[in-house]
Amino acid sequence: MMTAAPIDATLITPSAGIDRTRHGWRAKCLQRLVRMELPVPRSHAISADSVQKIAAGHPPDIDMLASLLSSTECPGHPASGLVSVRPSALNPEWGGPGTVLNVGINDNCHQGLVGRIGAEAADAIYLRFVQAYAIHIARLDPDMFAQEGEGALREALRTYADEMDEEFPQNPAVQLAEVLRSMARAWDGPTARLLRQAKGAPADAPLGLVVQEMALGIGPGFCGTGTIQFCDPVTGAPRITGRFRGQMQGSVRTAAAETLYLTRDPRGLSLEEAAPEVFADLVRFGVAARERLREEMMIDFVVNDSRVSIIDAVRLQRSSRASVRIAVALAKDGIIPPEEALMRVEPRALSDLLHHQVDPRAPRDLIARGINASPGAATGKIVFSATAAQASAARGEPCVLVRRETVPEDIRGMHASVAVLTERGGMTSHAAVIARGLGLPCIVGASGISIDPRARTLRAGTRSFREGEEITIDGTTGEVLAGAAAMLEPALDDSFAQLLEWSDQFRQIDVRANADTPEDARTARMFNAQGIGLCRTEHMFFDAERLPAMREMIFADKPEDRRLALARILPMQRDDFAALFEIMAGLPVTIRLFDPPLHEFLPHDREGMRELAESLDLPLSDVMRRVDALSEFNPMLGMRGVRLGIVMPEIYDMQARAIFEATALAGRKGDPVVPEIMIPLVSAMREVELVKNRVDAVAAEVRNKMHADFTYRLGVMVETPRAALRAGDIAAHAAFLSFGTNDLTQMTYGLSRDDAGRFMGAYVGQGVYAEDPFHILDQEGVGELLMIGAERARQKTPGITLSVCGEHGGNPESIAFCHRAGFSYVSCSPFRVPVARLAGAQESI
Ligand code: PEP
Ligand code: MG
Repeated sequence: MMTAAPIDATLITPSAGIDRTRHGWRAKCLQRLVRMELPVPRSHAISADSVQKIAAGHPPDIDMLASLLSSTECPGHPASGLVSVRPSALNPEWGGPGTVLNVGINDNCHQGLVGRIGAEAADAIYLRFVQAYAIHIARLDPDMFAQEGEGALREALRTYADEMDEEFPQNPAVQLAEVLRSMARAWDGPTARLLRQAKGAPADAPLGLVVQEMALGIGPGFCGTGTIQFCDPVTGAPRITGRFRGQMQGSVRTAAAETLYLTRDPRGLSLEEAAPEVFADLVRFGVAARERLREEMMIDFVVNDSRVSIIDAVRLQRSSRASVRIAVALAKDGIIPPEEALMRVEPRALSDLLHHQVDPRAPRDLIARGINASPGAATGKIVFSATAAQASAARGEPCVLVRRETVPEDIRGMHASVAVLTERGGMTSHAAVIARGLGLPCIVGASGISIDPRARTLRAGTRSFREGEEITIDGTTGEVLAGAAAMLEPALDDSFAQLLEWSDQFRQIDVRANADTPEDARTARMFNAQGIGLCRTEHMFFDAERLPAMREMIFADKPEDRRLALARILPMQRDDFAALFEIMAGLPVTIRLFDPPLHEFLPHDREGMRELAESLDLPLSDVMRRVDALSEFNPMLGMRGVRLGIVMPEIYDMQARAIFEATALAGRKGDPVVPEIMIPLVSAMREVELVKNRVDAVAAEVRNKMHADFTYRLGVMVETPRAALRAGDIAAHAAFLSFGTNDLTQMTYGLSRDDAGRFMGAYVGQGVYAEDPFHILDQEGVGELLMIGAERARQKTPGITLSVCGEHGGNPESIAFCHRAGFSYVSCSPFRVPVARLAGAQESI
C-alpha cells in the first residue's frame, strides 16, 4: 500500500497564493472573480502536485479531505457539505475529466435535503450522484443504473451494494477521495493524453482540481442554473445569449423544471422578465468580468431563491470573425492596448473574413476531403470543363469547376466558376496558385474523388454526382459537401479595417502582392499592399484574345518571324504594364520576365490542335510536330525561365521594351515610375549578365526614341539551390534578390510541386515532414539556403533588397522567418495581404 498523499488544498481568497502553473487556469480565474467580489461559492484549489501523486497511486489523505469538507460546511445552507469537483488544467483548451457534482451526498444529507427542497428533487440529486459514482468510479455497468423515476434511488443503492458487496459509501471524505482519484487517473490515461496533445499540450501537462461548495439551483423561491455570454460567438456582435433552466441542475430535473430565454423573446418566457433583478445582477457581473478579466467570457451561474452565484467563467469560444470583432472592441473600450488586440487574432483568421464561410452552425454533408488550397466557401453546379463553366456562367448559374488538375487553358473556366476542385495537385499547383490569386475557394489533391469527364460524373466514396448537381466547396477546411450549405457573408467591416490599420503601425517588414492583372492590382490596393512584388507576365497571355498571338509567336521557326509575332504582342504588354503602373500609383511594381515552358501555351488534345491548325492556317501535322518538338521529359527543369530568355532573347527584348515604353508614358503623365524587372530561374551569374546587357540596350533605345529619362532596377529570382549558393556573384549584377520559394522548395527537396499532393498527407501524417513544405517554409533546409543566399548577397552588395515572393510570403510562420532574416518585404496573393500584414505586425510587437 502506498503512503497517503497529503492534499495541498488552498482556499481561494483574494490574497491566497493561487498560481496558474500550480493550480491551473480555472483556479486562477475563480480567484480573479473572488477578487472582484463576485458571489463565488467557497472554492479550494488542489495543486497539480497532489493530483499527480494521486494519479501515481498514493491514496488521498482522508483526514485532510474531511477537514476540507467541514470547512465548506455552512449550517442552514441547503447544500451544506456538498461539493463539486472541476478540472483545472494549465490551458482551458486542454479540457480535462468531466465535472462531478454533489460529492458528499449520503443518506443523512439526503434526508436533510428532502426537508429543504422536497423528496422529488432530493431523490433526483442523490440518484444522479449514485449513478455517476457507480459508473465512473466503481466502474459498474451503466445499464444496471439506467432506471429513473420513483423507486430508482432505492434500486440504485441496492444494486450498488449487491455488486460491490458493500453499502454505497456514506463518508463524504471517502467519496471525495474516490472522485479525486478517478479524475486524476482519467487525466493520466492514454486517451486523454492523446486528446490534449492534439491541442498542443505536452503529454505530461499538469492538472489541478477545484473543489467548490455546491450551489443547488433547485429549491424554494426562484432557482435554476444557466450560462450567459455577452456577445455572439459567431459574429462577435454585442448580444446577450445563453440559457437558463429553472429548478434544474445539470441533468437533474424536477417536475417544476422549465427552460427560459435569457432576454425578452417572442417565443416564450425570459429570465429578464421572470427575474429582472437576477438578470440585472448578471449583466453587472458580466460587464465587470469583461473589464477585469480583459476578455469576453461565458459565465456559469446558479440562482438560489433569487440569489446569484457565479460558479465558473471561461473564455468565450469564438469563430475567427468574432475573434477580430471582440479584440478590436476590447481595445477600443480601452480594456486592452491595440498591440494586445493584434496579438489576440490568429492571422489566418483574417482570410476567413474575406470570403464567404460555411456557417459553423449549419449541417455539413461531407463527401470528400482535400488540401485547403484557397480559403472561402461557395456552392455551385458541377461542371467538368472550362467550356461548360463558361456556358454555366453565361446562363447565370454559379458553377464549381471539377478537374483532375487544371492547365493554363482552364483559366477562363476558373474565372467563370465560383470554386475549383481538383483530384490532384498540392499547395503550389496551377489550380491552387490561380485560385488564390482570384480569391476563389479551392480544394486540390482530393484523392478520394474520381472524375469521369466523358460520363460527366464525379464519384466520392459510394456516392456519385452528375454534371449540374450542386456541391459546396469549403476551401477553408478542405471539405467538399453535397448540396448547398448555409453561408456567412464576408465581414470586411470596421473591425477588420481597424485591426489592419493598427497592424501597419507596428509592422516593420513590408507586404507586397503578387498581381498579374489590373484586377489583381486593384485588389492589392484595396488591401493596402505596398507594391507588386511579383507580376507573372505569362498569366497575361492566357486570355482568350491573346492566346492566338502567343501561339503564333511560338510557332515561328525563325527569329524574324518570332519578332513579327512579338511586335503584335508588344502593345498589349505595354498596355498591361501601363495599367499596373497607373493602379499602383507610384508604388513599386516588380515585373518578372517570361517563365514557363512554351508548350504550356499549346493545346494538349487532338481537338485543340486541330482548332489551332485551322486558326494558324497550317496543316495539322505541322502543329503536331511543333507541339512534339516543344514537349520535354521534365519541363519544370527544362527550357523555361531565363533559359528561354537566353535561347530566344527576342521574347525578353519585347517585354523589356513594353515595360520601358509604359514607364516613359507614365512619366509623362505623372510621377516617375521606377520599374523593377526580375529574371526567373537563374542558376548562374552569366545568365544575369547576358540578360542585363540586352535589357540595358533596350532601355537606351527606348530612352532615345521616346526622349524619356527613366531608371529601372534589375533583380534576380533565387529559385534554384545554385542561385542561393552563388548569390554573392549574382548580387554583383542585381539591385535586388527575390527568393522564389515555390521552385526553391521543389528543387531543394527534389519534390514536384504539382504532384506532391498525392503523398503529402501520408508524409505529414507519419511525421516525415512536419508540415507541407510548399505551405510552410522549411526553415531547416530551404530556410538555410535563404540564409546562405542572403548572407553572401549582403557581403557582396551591402544593402541589397531581399524578399520572398513564393506562396510562403502569405504564411505567418514563414513571414516570421523573413522578418528575423531582415528581409525588406514578402509578396503574396492579394487575398493573403491582410494575413501577412497582421503576421508581420505580430513579429514586431
Ligand atoms: C516561385 O517559384 O516561388 C515563384 C514565385 O514563381 P512561380 O510560382 O511562378 O514559379
Ligand atoms: Mg518559380
